[in-house]
Amino acid sequence: MPSAKKNTIPLHDAHFAALLADITTLAVDAIVNAANTTLLGGGGVDGAIHRAAGPELLRECRTLGGCSVGDAKITAAYRLPARHVIHTVGPVWRGGGHNEATLLADCYRTSLKLARENGCSSIAFPCISTGVYRYPADAAAAVAVAACRDFIASHRYSCRIIFACFSEKDVRIYQKLLVD
Ligand code: ADP
Repeated sequence: MPSAKKNTIPLHDAHFAALLADITTLAVDAIVNAANTTLLGGGGVDGAIHRAAGPELLRECRTLGGCSVGDAKITAAYRLPARHVIHTVGPVWRGGGHNEATLLADCYRTSLKLARENGCSSIAFPCISTGVYRYPADAAAAVAVAACRDFIASHRYSCRIIFACFSEKDVRIYQKLLVD
């Protein structure tokens, strides 16, 4: 295995990596927040991002007028080591027959579109919708990887994409998908 940081799982794809990481610690051009439609903060990764960024983030989010499911909005990152926060809203899992996969793919696509427009060459995603929104982890990861692969290929976008996993189980899911 190539040398890597302790919590880094090296993968055989130049653009992608799956890390076991608290996304708030990553010094990338943009981290993605799995927010809710109000953009006014919540639990899970959203709460962690707001706590680490400081109250200025909420102040900026208040000016954005919320965000639809599948859409994304960008802010500064304030006290975080990242440069930007891209806030997206994943679908709540309701059994799979309510357009969840398309809406989840939209989150990755709209986030990457904003990252590209803002000159980002590295971005970290959490496992959107897989927490309180209950999207099954395997299915969500498959959607995430396919949507990101498709976007960078079709836009010739040279960007390092990190899947910031919060459990070893999620790292293994992404690792398997990325080496396939
Ligand atoms: P959602 O409402 O979209 O389901 P959650 O925040 O509840 O969002 O969970 C999304 C994912 O983010 C889950 O896999 C959860 O374990 C993970 N997560 C929670 N905190 C962090 C963090 N600090 N860094 C990275 N991932 C996190």
